[in-house]
Amino acid sequence: MFGPVVDNLVAQLSRLPGVGTRTAQRLAFHLLRVPKEEALALAAAIVEVKERIRPCRECGNLTEEELCVICSDTRRDRSVICVVEQPADLVSVERTHAFRGVYHVLGGALSPLDGVEPSDLRIDALLARVERNGVSEVVLATNPNMTGEATAAFLADRLRDRTRVTRLASGLPVGGDLEYADEVTLGRALAGRREM
Ligand SMILES: [Zn+2]
Repeated sequence: MFGPVVDNLVAQLSRLPGVGTRTAQRLAFHLLRVPKEEALALAAAIVEVKERIRPCRECGNLTEEELCVICSDTRRDRSVICVVEQPADLVSVERTHAFRGVYHVLGGALSPLDGVEPSDLRIDALLARVERNGVSEVVLATNPNMTGEATAAFLADRLRDRTRVTRLASGLPVGGDLEYADEVTLGRALAGRREM
């Protein structure tokens, strides 16, 4: 109705998670209404993160440097690695203040139906880290849903004879994402982790 340029903005916005066509239209009209600088600041912020943020060389967390803030922090205990699916899950575990080790971000979960195979995740890098360093424990903090459990089982099989492997205690909302667990529940699940 307003031409291809506005249609394109609506189409791009509606690709964002949780944004349907109506919300995308509302956001588009909002961006058309606000001062030019304000809308361009949003565009510039998107360009900047896409150009400057990359995966941490060691753990796969998001960073502007070679190493992320956690891997560069000498106070962190490098002998314990917490394995998560996405950087957002790392943020959830950090929020509990119950974990002082380091992380490994897989970049997803195994899901043969969606075509996600072990080679698509940072699994070899995890095995290499365990081989290389004196790792005394790997905490599997993949999501408590089908693909997360399958990924945890797969990793436990490969890691068990090299180091101690634990899994977050049950009590997290089943089928849910770590990202949405509250910090008290997640802190308890961490404290009560069990051998795998
Ligand atoms: Zn890192």
